[in-house]
Amino acid sequence: MPLLAPRGTRDARLRAALAAAGLRDAIIAPLGESGTLLAADRLGDVDTFDAHDLAVLASLANHAVVALSNGRLADRLRNQAAEREHEALHDALTGLSNRRAFHDAVAGSLAGRGRLAVLLLDLDRFKEINDTLGHDSGDLVLQEVGRRLQATLPADAPVARLGGDEFAFALPGAGAEAALRAAAEVRAALAAPYTLRGLPLQVDGSIGIAVAPGDGQDPEVLLQRADVAMYAAKRARTGAEVYAADRDQYSPGRLALVAELREAIATGALILHYQPKAALADGRVVGVEALVRWYHPMRGPIPPDEFVPVAEHTGLMRPLTLHVLETAIRQGAAWHAAGLDLGVAVNLSARGLADPALVDDVVRLLGAHGLPPASLTLEITESDILDEPERAIAVLDQLARLGIHRSVDDFGTGYSSLSYLNRLPVDEIKIDKSFVQAMRSSRSGGAIVTTVADLGRRLGKRVVAEGVEDAETWDALRDLGCDIAQGYFLSPPLPAEQLTAWLRAWTGRPAPDLLAVSESSHRP
Ligand code: C2E
Ligand code: CA
Ligand code: CA
Repeated sequence: MPLLAPRGTRDARLRAALAAAGLRDAIIAPLGESGTLLAADRLGDVDTFDAHDLAVLASLANHAVVALSNGRLADRLRNQAAEREHEALHDALTGLSNRRAFHDAVAGSLAGRGRLAVLLLDLDRFKEINDTLGHDSGDLVLQEVGRRLQATLPADAPVARLGGDEFAFALPGAGAEAALRAAAEVRAALAAPYTLRGLPLQVDGSIGIAVAPGDGQDPEVLLQRADVAMYAAKRARTGAEVYAADRDQYSPGRLALVAELREAIATGALILHYQPKAALADGRVVGVEALVRWYHPMRGPIPPDEFVPVAEHTGLMRPLTLHVLETAIRQGAAWHAAGLDLGVAVNLSARGLADPALVDDVVRLLGAHGLPPASLTLEITESDILDEPERAIAVLDQLARLGIHRSVDDFGTGYSSLSYLNRLPVDEIKIDKSFVQAMRSSRSGGAIVTTVADLGRRLGKRVVAEGVEDAETWDALRDLGCDIAQGYFLSPPLPAEQLTAWLRAWTGRPAPDLLAVSESSHRP
């Protein structure tokens, strides 16, 4: 009801109300549920509000009520629409995007940039959690997984729960390498201890990776292929797999090989042979290179060139690298203890180099076995360094500060520029054996070795020639100013015990009769 309170009103309640508000006069009209509209202290000395003013105010108030409720309706509709849209694009349990939103985000990113990795995560043994602890516990686990995913991944990475215990995320701009690293980080984040209602829980997952544009340019195709790869990772229990178009990748034979390789690493069935490196000037043995060997019980010897790449692509590189590092460092320490001052070189693959735990692992193993850092050399191939030079340089710098030697392996095959070599924090260059062996037959082979030897000298880096098979090459390398030689002319890679015996017999000069020794006669 509109209310008129003119100046000098005789209504005692109105006078009291005006006085309390400090007003001379007022008219008031209700605004529906929104409140009231009040006009007060009419201008002029004698005029005050009358019934006409009240009617105007009441009419104004009515218009205002309509306008306000229309506005509120629009707000309400807007909120509802937003809610519905959120529901349509999000997973209610975790608040992550749903499959549709994930599609849209991937499609948008593909249109913009092109390269993008899609990763599909499926929890391992989630059904057991649900069955034994109940669905609400399962829900809590899924929410925690969602939180950990978001905390681990970059802010611009679309993250979605596709349903059940299946999650997907995308890494705009990432290739297979970066995706595998992210997969490892996610799996590590999931593996961090988690207590559910007082019960410690271990959550693990398998991740499949598909990379656009190579594996497809459509979100659905990429998800399907990531699913194929995820399934392979699950079956092979490798943690993460990159989709491979050739179906061989997932053939039973290959999967069996992966399983057997895992077993071989775990049981110590992979062994190391050691090949000596000697100073060209006087034949003194300065160190050995550790080379991994796998004698498969059924398939016979499998060359490292075949199984190391398998390890690289199936999440087995870290256990393989750790096994090789530990074995080589332990053996190096044993030689030291026996009074043999031998450096030990270990090959690192791209994945090994990219492992964020590598430096800590190396430090820990050196400490555990008491081998001085200066007795260890890590060899990294030139092409692996060129894959991700900034990261490689950072790791090499860290190793350098620790006093660990760094060698660039297979030099000449990666086509790095010579000025680039100057920036690399390595203290050794290993000329690839193809150039060393071409010295005898082709002029260009000789020219490359000459150039690298010259460059190494100028940059103050030790130059090693690998694949030296005869005396002529040995002499030519020495005359060119190379520092160290490695190859069958000196000795093939040998098991540790045989290498120790070889060293004892070694007179400081390659003995032709030792050429009869071949690696194959030393299989276990
Ligand atoms: P690499 O680092 O270039 O190793 C040298 C290779 O040349 C070895 O082959 C060695 O046996 C061979 N070799 C030695 N002397 C001669 C010679 O006089 N003539 C010829 N023709 N070859 C010679 P291997 O053992 O088959 O290793 C092949 C590659 O596998 C290695 O190349 C290395 O890149 C990789 N590899 C070996 N062990 C490991 C390991 O423990 N970890 C990793 N990540 N890679 C490894
Ligand atoms: Ca090597
Ligand atoms: Ca090499």
